[in-house]
Amino acid sequence: MPQRRDQESRKLLGRLRDAMAEESAGQERLDKITSLIATSMQTEVCSIYLFRDAETLELCATEGLEADSVHQTRLRLGEGLVGKVAKTSRIVNTADAPGTKGFRYMPETGEERYSSFLGLPIQRLGESLGVLVVQSKEARTYTADEVYGLEVVAMVIAEMTELGAFVGDGAALSARHQQPVMFRGAVGQEGAARGNVYLHEPRVVITNPFSDDEETELTRIREAVDQLRVSVDDMLAGARTPDKEQMKVLDAYRMFANSRSWLRRMEDDIRNGLSAEAAVEKEQSLARARLGQASDAYLRERLHDLDDLSNRLLRILTGQGAQTGAEMPERPILVARNIGPGELLEYGKSLRAIVLEQGSVGSHAAIVARAWAIPLVIHAKGITTEALNGDPILVDGEQGIVHLRPDDSVDAAFTDKIAMLTKAQERYVSIRDLPATDTSGATVSLQMNAGLMADLPSLEGSGAEGVGLFRTELQFLVRNQMPSRTELAGLYTRVLNAAAGKRVVFRTLDIGSDKVLPYMKPNDEPNPALGWRAIRVGLDKPGILRMQLQALIRAANGGPLTVMFPFIAEYAEFLAARAEFDKAMAREEKLGHVLPSSVEVGAMLETPSLSYAPDSFFRDVDFISIGGNDLKQFFFAADRENERVRRRYDVLNVSFLKFLEQTVQRCKYAGTPVSFCGEDAGRPIEAICLGAIGLRALSMRPASIGPVKHMIQRVNLDEVRELIKGAEKRGEASARPAVAAWLRTLD
Ligand code: PEP
Ligand code: MG
Repeated sequence: MPQRRDQESRKLLGRLRDAMAEESAGQERLDKITSLIATSMQTEVCSIYLFRDAETLELCATEGLEADSVHQTRLRLGEGLVGKVAKTSRIVNTADAPGTKGFRYMPETGEERYSSFLGLPIQRLGESLGVLVVQSKEARTYTADEVYGLEVVAMVIAEMTELGAFVGDGAALSARHQQPVMFRGAVGQEGAARGNVYLHEPRVVITNPFSDDEETELTRIREAVDQLRVSVDDMLAGARTPDKEQMKVLDAYRMFANSRSWLRRMEDDIRNGLSAEAAVEKEQSLARARLGQASDAYLRERLHDLDDLSNRLLRILTGQGAQTGAEMPERPILVARNIGPGELLEYGKSLRAIVLEQGSVGSHAAIVARAWAIPLVIHAKGITTEALNGDPILVDGEQGIVHLRPDDSVDAAFTDKIAMLTKAQERYVSIRDLPATDTSGATVSLQMNAGLMADLPSLEGSGAEGVGLFRTELQFLVRNQMPSRTELAGLYTRVLNAAAGKRVVFRTLDIGSDKVLPYMKPNDEPNPALGWRAIRVGLDKPGILRMQLQALIRAANGGPLTVMFPFIAEYAEFLAARAEFDKAMAREEKLGHVLPSSVEVGAMLETPSLSYAPDSFFRDVDFISIGGNDLKQFFFAADRENERVRRRYDVLNVSFLKFLEQTVQRCKYAGTPVSFCGEDAGRPIEAICLGAIGLRALSMRPASIGPVKHMIQRVNLDEVRELIKGAEKRGEASARPAVAAWLRTLD
């Protein structure tokens, strides 16, 4: 019998192909499909439900149910057996539908007469598009061969849906990839931009899911798999490592590429009437659906491997993909699942904005976006499957919202928003060369954070007094191998030259936690943020630190040099780090290099412990820079990278402000300059509160300098301090409401 089903399934696909080739409207095509399937499967009913929106399925065509219910019957995701199939991406196959858990009777369809039910997800690469259902009066479960045959059909329907084959009439069938869609993500970097989608890894488009000639398709898939195997072998030959664990992972990857069963399944799909590309995608879709359900980490990894290999195979077959040579559209806005800083830098500064499905505010892509001062929205779930290259897109980095293919009214509102932001920018330019002095005459020094050469031009444009934090690790992160001392010295020289005499505070390498160098063995740590990172690595394995310090001393070229150590948790660590610096100076002197004219060696205060270090620490250190990002995460024990808890505690929490004020006081008593360089320094309300508790130097991303300066100039910092104290006395958790209310009275 399987033989017969095989033929049946092929015949059905042949008929579907003919139906698709006919010049007909979308609804007509869908009707034809349901009728062909019902006949071929010898079932009374065949129905196709498609998603109307993310939560609603609509009956779009049926053979056998009441014709009037088409486009009328709707189900919520998870509702009834159809909703269950869509929600779980799992097949439901039952001889007794009314008796099956989840069954929901829909009188308008007249379906109570049918006993057996087979529902399959219509999905493309793990994205659910709808549900295909067959039903019959006879109480029977469908055989594995029948299910398999329908899976192939569902795959074809998915591809045709994707290609817009059912577009035309019927509200639910408006074209995918043509409607406006809004994504609500999270703010990675403020700003607003209008442009056109440029996909980091464009999806492969399959233009013909049907096999025109079985033998040709079989040859194509075999040759493509051969080519894939060779390329995987080449890739792995270059990646040999002595690390046993890593080798195991690489071997598993190779094993998959050589998997006979994978190829066999795809050959079967072709024999059932699919083209080689559609066969790859069918298996990939199934793997993705399983990936969504697998809780076992090892299995998930393997399914990821399969996904990756499938993508490679599709690129071989279609010649599309990463190297499509797709031209960058005008005003390109990069859309990606996620992206590393190296890849991002390769795109260059022509990008207008970045939208990521994943990512985090503290990630390096975010830091690069910040350096480029372009808006970044993260967590825009599903955008890579919706967006096509060249689609118009609006990125609202202020709210974390993205409008894809916006309609005219949204576009017009956005134009107003951009105009407002531009006007504000003009205002900031007009105060660029003025100091950030409050109404009582107190001045706050505003400096900028940097990490790439590309940031330096902002020093002039933003009006920053200097670079309060130069994150040296970015240079390490964007490379594939460790930079040499000479390269580093060259880079630091260029930075100092570009700064043209303004002070640059170089922070030594802060790696570990989320910042993993591509050429260093990653450490599997249970809590990387609390782990072996920053100065801890620098002191335990001082090779890189020493090289870096030497490079910095040379780059100073007889001028002043400012260096600070990240993540100092206790006095002894500072002393040890300072000793490394002194040794480096002595070594350089011995080698006959010119020494810096003056040296400042500071510490970053990023752990609460350092606030309670002995007085001698505060006297010894040349300056302190408060790293508010880390300090806040440790003060509240709330991961800065975890979107769930990141915003749970306000930086203007009165306890945190009190703690900061006491720390600032200790610096003042010791006569040690103190500044604040976390991201909060760049937010106007936060900045005036930091100023109010005594911080007179703030370092922030360049684009924030204008707004922060404008705010400081409007207020009296002593009054702001009174507001904070008032909130504290009243037992309020945060000073924000009081300060915000007061600011409104100033308008
Ligand atoms: C900080 O922790 O506040 C800081 C400035 O350092 P980074 O964000 O690089 O950890
Ligand atoms: Mg830090």
